[in-house]
Amino acid sequence: MQNPLLDPEEKDFTVEENLRPSSLNEFVGQQKVINNLNVFIQAAKKRNEALDHVILSGPPGLGKTTLAYIIAAEMGVQIKPTTGPVLEKPGDLAGLLTNLEMGDVLFIDEIHRLNPVIEEYLYSAMEDYKLDIVIDSGPNARSVQIDLNHFTLVGATTRKGLLTAPLRARFGIDMRLDYYDTELLQRIALRTAHILNFGITESGAHEIARRSRGTPRIVNKLLRRTRDFAQVDGLTEIDDKIADKALNALDVDQNGLDDMDIRILKAIIENYNGGPVGLSTLGVAVGEDKGTIEEVYEPFLIKEGFMQRTPKGRVAAAKAYQYLGINQSGSTGD
Ligand code: ADP
Repeated sequence: MQNPLLDPEEKDFTVEENLRPSSLNEFVGQQKVINNLNVFIQAAKKRNEALDHVILSGPPGLGKTTLAYIIAAEMGVQIKPTTGPVLEKPGDLAGLLTNLEMGDVLFIDEIHRLNPVIEEYLYSAMEDYKLDIVIDSGPNARSVQIDLNHFTLVGATTRKGLLTAPLRARFGIDMRLDYYDTELLQRIALRTAHILNFGITESGAHEIARRSRGTPRIVNKLLRRTRDFAQVDGLTEIDDKIADKALNALDVDQNGLDDMDIRILKAIIENYNGGPVGLSTLGVAVGEDKGTIEEVYEPFLIKEGFMQRTPKGRVAAAKAYQYLGINQSGSTGD
């Protein structure tokens, strides 16, 4: 079963609110994305215009929601958050859009899960800031057009591949967040410990960082659980020893891999002799949607050197064999 501590989609809303960076300066990592966003925000402010619509994509827990809030804060506007599956009827969308003031941010998380009917309504809202709504029904049905204030739609998605081409085309700013390396995650651990007012050593932060699957949300979760272990042991700070003890007790992998990562690597090695194997075949073997493997799992495994992408398919790297204790000729070692 998936260890909930390593599940980047397991959110703890109340805690996460307090740990969110609130300005571009405070946001750790993703430097290119941050630099570009800064330019677009400064330019929109100079022109006194709403920021262009933004699509943020990338695996869960990397900071998409955080960035949406930062965009609103840097623009000095309100943000109205919602999620794709919640918007069921055109009226739900109309209610949100007509309440937006000039420049406000409408944040739609999981935008790939929008109902196609709602998506159609969004097209003209995004492009012309107009909403065509049909009121009444039968012979009395008629269409009315509502003018909207110029607003910014910020959409977040873990599965950009599922967005339709017309929706994608309506975002002027398109940014992808990538997994963080250990050094950045270490900085995030230090920052979070500081906010929680609990001591931490560089090596303690490093131990948590390297086992957090490249994901800030997991860093924060593991840090809080490690603090529990430290406090019960009467410690006032987290060092690498207590971090190691806590993370072992919590079954957190030495490399931060989660169950699906391990299943993917095992399938390539055990079922397909190390690869190359096509994405669809791999998806069937591990019981996961091939798009999710491509957009969520594979980027981490490639970044960490466990897997390679070749023109013929996915191949397990030497590091995967070592990790699973299998020698490359195929027999299982001790
Ligand atoms: P997503 O929307 O991509 O799933 P979130 O924005 O909700 O991710 O981020 C998850 C948690 O990780 C938040 O509590 C946030 O504080 C933290 N976090 C994410 N990115 C960063 C970052 N770059 N620096 C510091 N903390 C971060």
